[in-house]
Amino acid sequence: MQDTITKPLLKWYGENKRVLPWREKKNPYEIWVSEIMLQQTRVEAVKPFYERFMRELPNVAALAVCPEEKLLKLWEGLGYYNRVRNMQKAAQKIMEVYDGVFPADYEALKGLPGIGNYTAGAVASIAFCIPVPAVDGNVLRVMARLREDGEDILKQSVKNRVEAELTEIMPAEDPGAFNQAMMDLGAMVCLPNGAPKCEVCPLFDQCLAGQHQTWTEYPFKKSAKPRRIEDRTVLLFLDGAHTAVRKRPKKGLLAGLYEFPNFDGVLSEQEALEEAEKFGVTPLHIQALPPYKHIFSHVEWHITGYAIKIAGNDVEQEGEEKAGLIFADAKTAAERYAIPSAFAEYAKYTDLERA
Ligand code: SF4
Repeated sequence: MQDTITKPLLKWYGENKRVLPWREKKNPYEIWVSEIMLQQTRVEAVKPFYERFMRELPNVAALAVCPEEKLLKLWEGLGYYNRVRNMQKAAQKIMEVYDGVFPADYEALKGLPGIGNYTAGAVASIAFCIPVPAVDGNVLRVMARLREDGEDILKQSVKNRVEAELTEIMPAEDPGAFNQAMMDLGAMVCLPNGAPKCEVCPLFDQCLAGQHQTWTEYPFKKSAKPRRIEDRTVLLFLDGAHTAVRKRPKKGLLAGLYEFPNFDGVLSEQEALEEAEKFGVTPLHIQALPPYKHIFSHVEWHITGYAIKIAGNDVEQEGEEKAGLIFADAKTAAERYAIPSAFAEYAKYTDLERA
């Protein structure tokens, strides 16, 4: 396979590779940050987040001591906040155990919080030239199509097998290029949805799914359990200058982030007004907001919302806390409080004088 896969793949990569800011210096910290971000978002969407993160936290030492509120704010919009919390734990371990230097060792990398085989493989191969594979969904898709392999790619045994096969064929002199070539091929040519671009694929001659045009059948994934659907009602309290947020509990979904006050179920206008009064505010007017859905991996929130105009003298000063709510103007709320995308849909209404 080395000649038939590796050579054409590396040649293609040399001519077509993506120019990405984190690839330029082969710096393990930069590669790590980018790979964690890319686990949830496309390359183009990641770039501005990556640049902002690097400006604020340019190295492991800075990440290790970053206050949690700032860290979560920097991650706002990327979701999966536990990932950045684990990154900070990993940075702290690197400072304490490895004197602030990223370990140039695959197993040691996997011993860091939040780093699994894929991320360890990407960092080890690209930054340290260690010949270990980096197998993610893109790579599994390419490998399944190459051989019309109908095994479930979510199975650990399939991942292990693909890792072993790639370890055999990756070039010892530049394993990082090989892994990145596989990533780029999956992202640019062997596309997940719609038709892959087999006509420009360097592996077409070796690919059974490409030749038989059976790529829609691969990779096979056992269908996941349907998501649980939960109804929620979100309330935006607006007095013309402030809006109200509150901090979520330290544990559980979206732990430690900020939210607009919200409740289980679909509240009627009357019920929403009654809940508002329990916070000690005086509702003057209520207006329904457009409903939306937010999808987590296992749960789907169906969100109903109301903007509630409250009396101006309910809030006396910026940052005031009242019945667990923090009142802030829209700009301060946006700068200071990390509001996850589950709630961000309604943030655009907070600077409007409603009602
Ligand atoms: S030939 Fe087509 S299906 Fe096969 S790896 Fe290339 S893009 Fe994917």
